[in-house]
Amino acid sequence: QFKALVVNKTETDFTVNVQTVSMSDLPEGDVVIKVVYSSVNYKDGLACIPNGKIVKSYPFIPGIDLAGIVASSKDPRFKEGDEVIATSYEIGVSHFGGYSEYARIPGDWIVPLPKGLTLKEAMALGTAGFTAALSIHRLEENGLSPEKGKVLVTGATGGVGSIAVSMLAKRNYHVVASTGKESEHEYLRELGAKEIISREEVCLEQIRPLDKQYWAAAVDPVGGRTLATILSRIQYNGSVAVSGLAGGADVPTTVFPFILRGVNLLGIDSVYCPMELRKQIWERMASDLKPNQLLELIAQEITLEQLPEALSNILKGKLRGRTVVKLA
Ligand code: NAP
Repeated sequence: QFKALVVNKTETDFTVNVQTVSMSDLPEGDVVIKVVYSSVNYKDGLACIPNGKIVKSYPFIPGIDLAGIVASSKDPRFKEGDEVIATSYEIGVSHFGGYSEYARIPGDWIVPLPKGLTLKEAMALGTAGFTAALSIHRLEENGLSPEKGKVLVTGATGGVGSIAVSMLAKRNYHVVASTGKESEHEYLRELGAKEIISREEVCLEQIRPLDKQYWAAAVDPVGGRTLATILSRIQYNGSVAVSGLAGGADVPTTVFPFILRGVNLLGIDSVYCPMELRKQIWERMASDLKPNQLLELIAQEITLEQLPEALSNILKGKLRGRTVVKLA
């Protein structure tokens, strides 16, 4: 028997609490993992509210990210004692996730821990870090390099945002960070942001079809009106990597940035990112994209018992950086 955070929904009640569960409660899968760390993502916050539209059936153990040690394996690619990462696919959505001392996961969803990362660092990165790294990878594939110009990061104090700022700074980009948190400007400077602007400056009431060309590229986990504003202000042939909807799902834009400035809109999906590219991105996160201040500045550690509060705070946009959950 072991501990897990269990979410349950009945006709009359919705509960989120730490409970004792057993191996027989876990779903099918080839590899049993002793979870050492998990993390807190926006999607996990949604999984723990009644109408979050993430969880498919109840009772459920959320947590879209986990890293740990293989306890037993029927998959020849993994053996007892291996350090592994499991994120994405159905984990924490329809397959029990990382907020549990043990998880049973299909081998096809597991990535060996790359050299250069500890289990804790892997979860300090987690899906948010993966999304930031994939965004930068795709921007660079589409021609971005430091001499092309400034790179905007929206939602900069959030998980995806903080890690994107730090990764871009490490690669010598001139980073412009946009944030709604005035109290966190110093934090963003420490991460390597050269300029800090307010949320309102990248989310205009009146969006012109084409505006002044400020940035060569943008990493955008905010979406909504912010994305529409950014598109009108990206340099000729520049790109925007959009990954989220923290600021809304509707994007009131026009075709003009695309047809008159050759702007690229790059969709970023971490969930079904093919395994070959997934491993390549994890390798980059362990090397050239590894943030310098990951454990010192970006991540804080909490316990399973502290999770409900953190999950509620991430939905309010109140968490800074990344939150890792220590299981074992
Ligand atoms: P997070 O830590 O909560 O970061 C989101 C940040 O956005 C907040 O910290 C805040 O930053 C800003 N923000 C919050 N509410 C806002 C609003 N109403 N308008 C404008 N900005 C707002 O969450 P996260 O884990 O980084 O995830 C961010 C987004 O990316 C979510 O929508 C998530 O679902 C998505 N995501 C997508 C993928 C994918 O595969 N596509 C993967 C991971 C995450 P400031 O206070 O600094 O402005």
